[in-house]
Amino acid sequence: MIKTFKIYTLGCKVNQYDSERLKIYLKEFGLSPINVGADLAIINTCSVTKATGHKNSRMLALAKKDNPKAKLILVGCWARIYGNDLRNFGVDLVLTDKNPEILAQAIAEYFSLKKISLIKHTELVASNRSRYTIKVQDGCEQFCSYCIIPYSRGKLWSRPLNEVLGETQKAVDKKYPEIILTGIHLGLYKDEETNTNLSGLLKKMLALGGNIPYRLSSIEITEVSDELIDLYYKNLLLAKHLHISLQSGSDKILRLMNRPYRIAYFEDRINKIRKLMPDFAITTDIIVGFPGETDQDFEDTCAFVKKIKFSKIHVFPFSAHEITPAFSLPGQNSSDVIKKRARLLRELSVSLEKDFYQKFLNKNLPGIITGKRAGKYFAKTEYFFDVEVKDEKNHCLGEKIIVSL
Ligand code: SF4
Repeated sequence: MIKTFKIYTLGCKVNQYDSERLKIYLKEFGLSPINVGADLAIINTCSVTKATGHKNSRMLALAKKDNPKAKLILVGCWARIYGNDLRNFGVDLVLTDKNPEILAQAIAEYFSLKKISLIKHTELVASNRSRYTIKVQDGCEQFCSYCIIPYSRGKLWSRPLNEVLGETQKAVDKKYPEIILTGIHLGLYKDEETNTNLSGLLKKMLALGGNIPYRLSSIEITEVSDELIDLYYKNLLLAKHLHISLQSGSDKILRLMNRPYRIAYFEDRINKIRKLMPDFAITTDIIVGFPGETDQDFEDTCAFVKKIKFSKIHVFPFSAHEITPAFSLPGQNSSDVIKKRARLLRELSVSLEKDFYQKFLNKNLPGIITGKRAGKYFAKTEYFFDVEVKDEKNHCLGEKIIVSL
């Protein structure tokens, strides 16, 4: 008889959120979460890079070790791509749906469990006290040539507006210090029934009151509309930071990546933001060593990055999944070249981070305590960088304070 479960999660914020929501729905069937020795172990897998295949296997081994008698279930992106082939890993069930509610029903059906309670779709998931992350969208149909996500997460899907607002209201009532909207292709949020896009959703969330700041986890440059920029300009509660993936500063590489913009467009949009809000923080992702990327293309990327003045760059050494077109493109770079470019771009990121930080020296900024490292508290500012708190007081996670740089 299955009574207890444990969920192991790999990957992005969306996966983390899905696991927490699955946990809520499994409780409807009378199952209780425990840490070890569970009757059921669910591994919510990831497939974002080639390396994650090994991470999934390691997580599965850990789940078997912690829960020796457990039935094992694989869900998530790896399960959706390889399906029942993964039964060879000695698991009982592979489930490919991405909706946590449907996953819970499938698990209940497999183990003949009956629903003993009803949980609202707006129930809050467990969350770190320093912020509440709410998933509002899933799926992507862009098919960038290096990306596995459209294969694993499928078609665009937006959560109904009333559900999103219901959950947000609860997070507001609980006085979370910040709410982060997350999704796979967040900029394409669209509630069809009410014709509400991402800007409309933010407006409705802001109207809930509570003086809570909001942040977007990421957005594509093609979805940074004039309407959205205007909303950010007029609303102090929208954190002045956007994470916008550039991926390359070479138009030739952007074309090979099947990215739907060129650098002139990217620059134009950023200029539009910075004209209204000069200190606005823009962080980004860049892939180095993409097939066909020459030294000149890489230099163009570095030059463009300096021009845009990103406040932080997440550098991804190219590594494609075998089912993506980029895997078999000609002009693959050697691992030495990829490593060298990654190191150089990371060094550039550190220097840009310092330049951005300098803008705020001797200023006071609102921050939220996000943790303690080596005896020192750290606070996250709306510009997304962390500041070491200089006072000697004790602070709580999520506490709002003013930090001076
Ligand atoms: S926009 Fe491109 S990189 Fe982003 S999830 Fe979609 S396919 Fe992947």
